[in-house]
Amino acid sequence: MILISEHASTSKAVQDRLHRPLRDLRISVTDRCNFRCVYCMPREIFGPGYAFLPRKDLLTLEEIARIAQVFAALGMRKVRITGGEPLIRRNLEHLIEMIDATEGVQDISLTTNGSMLTADRAVSLKQAGLKRLTISLDALDDATFKSINDVDYPASRVLDGIDNARAAGFSDIKVNAVVRRGLNEHAVLDLAKHFRHSGCIVRFIEYMDVGETNGWNLDDVIPAADLVDRIDALYPLEAVSPNYPGEVAKRWRYRDGAGEIGFITSVTQSFCGECSRARLSAVGELYTCLFGTQGHDLRSLLRSGADDAQLLQAVSGIWQKREDRYSELRATATKVPVTGQAKVEMSHIGG
Ligand code: SF4
Repeated sequence: MILISEHASTSKAVQDRLHRPLRDLRISVTDRCNFRCVYCMPREIFGPGYAFLPRKDLLTLEEIARIAQVFAALGMRKVRITGGEPLIRRNLEHLIEMIDATEGVQDISLTTNGSMLTADRAVSLKQAGLKRLTISLDALDDATFKSINDVDYPASRVLDGIDNARAAGFSDIKVNAVVRRGLNEHAVLDLAKHFRHSGCIVRFIEYMDVGETNGWNLDDVIPAADLVDRIDALYPLEAVSPNYPGEVAKRWRYRDGAGEIGFITSVTQSFCGECSRARLSAVGELYTCLFGTQGHDLRSLLRSGADDAQLLQAVSGIWQKREDRYSELRATATKVPVTGQAKVEMSHIGG
């Protein structure tokens, strides 16, 4: 079924108050994860007693696919599937097939910690229609990596997952590493070196104050510019222009042709001006910013029998009122913008 809207058939997506088009939808399919990364799901908070979202409250795969159709009708073209750890969600391939069959969707990617990326799983994801993979790996040495994931998981097994992805036919795989001072900055050069000439693109992410549980402090942030200098001193780099407006990572490449590397600079070089990303939680809340404090409940609309026109109107209305630019405000303000409301957790809406 094709939803008709003025945006579906034209390249003009619905725009927010800052004239940013709705181009990307990040879908969290679960808030659960098998890792306890200290900057995202610290064990002291997300321990044995933590109440994860009950299964009955989760959107069904069909409900998620329907919401993706609505977004596509409003001009959305790229879907990223996240979590928690999305590969935990059963029948995920069925969801990917439905999204892949959605009119207007041009790209489907997935972010994973790689721990469940067996050879068979990589093949089934590819066959379902998944186009791109991003795999998180914050260090190559086990001592550091295990101190971050906090579940004693070895880096070598994530590297196996990356090999499985390549063998299944995924190309330009992205490898994301969050860099926190005193935790893994010593691992940066090893990661850069390891993935040179590999075809994978390592992206170093500035440590962010997402949610309220990671004890974020500006002093723990290593500016991407410092990391560029450190890597450039060893492997000369040159800046590369973005692939498209609103691209999240700042692109660099090795002058000796060893490939590309990226930096996600939310803290020191905000990129809110071109942010075209909406986020959907696993229970159907629409967030218009990673640092949002309030989601818009789409699940009640869905389950109260709203038709497509009503859903289109609701989503379009939410986006058109959007004026989020948290990172920009954080960068310009002397202190972090305080709303008095708790920011949503990364594991609840994905990165
Ligand atoms: S802080 Fe919010 S508005 Fe800015 S780039 Fe991130 S998600 Fe977009």
